[in-house]
Amino acid sequence: MTDAPRTTLPGWTIEALYDDYRQALSEDEVLYDSETGHQRIRVFTNPRFGRVLTLDDVVQTTEGDEFIYHEMLTHVPILAHGAAKRVLIIGGGDGGMAREVLRHTSVGHVTMVEIDAGVVAFSKKYLPSLSAGAFDDPRLNLVIADGAEFVRESADRFDVIIVDSTDPVGPGEVLFTDTFYGRAKSCLAEGGILVTQNGVPFLQGEELTNTMRAFKALFRDATCYMATIPTYAGGPMAFGWGTDGTARQTSPEVLEQRFEAAGISTRYYTPQVHTGAFALPRYVLDLIPNG
Ligand code: SAM
Repeated sequence: MTDAPRTTLPGWTIEALYDDYRQALSEDEVLYDSETGHQRIRVFTNPRFGRVLTLDDVVQTTEGDEFIYHEMLTHVPILAHGAAKRVLIIGGGDGGMAREVLRHTSVGHVTMVEIDAGVVAFSKKYLPSLSAGAFDDPRLNLVIADGAEFVRESADRFDVIIVDSTDPVGPGEVLFTDTFYGRAKSCLAEGGILVTQNGVPFLQGEELTNTMRAFKALFRDATCYMATIPTYAGGPMAFGWGTDGTARQTSPEVLEQRFEAAGISTRYYTPQVHTGAFALPRYVLDLIPNG
């Protein structure tokens, strides 16, 4: 095989998650570039996707397509649950997840556990459209800590837990372990739902298989649902879903009523998309133990 293409090119960010597959984004202007001790944080502008956040040169979120990811990881579990009052976000330093959760006036309390204060600090300054004021919402309790430590120590119980972490490398690795999932489950209230950012199965199939194996051992209902976020290269992304309740059986009619009652406008989520997102292609089902 020829030498791997360069991972640096002046004026471009080349995402090198894989040895044999690269994603490149042109940089109009680099707004921020700094090491925080946890990871290298960069924000630059791209003509097509607007402001782009990378951590260790891996795309985390962009102004252009973040709505898909944040809407699907929040409105699906919250509307399926139907009575979520307390939500836990692990990661989510850019504030986009908190923004979408807090749009539900029925949610009274959001705890967000982010390991890197640097991501929060510069997101407020360089990516204000993502948090859109979420960090000032009195319902938000921001905790700077390792999410794995938090679930080990916490006596709190949550109706929805959202893991909005980096990929399973660096500080994010611990958030893809059976131990973490078991402790996260112990932080769920009766009927609670755990959802996770679970990578792009076409390229990161093992990540989904590992999570699903752990979820199958922990939950009565363990599966995933999907949506395509253009800058998470390689096809549709999987979102892990685990619960001992029956939330996934919520009818489309009830989802419609709840969505209506929530009074929120979306750009990706609809009750029909919600239901359809759980219809998995064969290659994804084959990645799920006893798919
Ligand atoms: N949407 C992105 C994705 O799918 O890769 C994730 C965005 S968000 C910026 C990811 C956040 O997870 C980062 O702010 C990172 O600092 C945080 N993070 C990584 N490992 C963590 C840990 N062990 N505990 C808490 N937060 C963590």
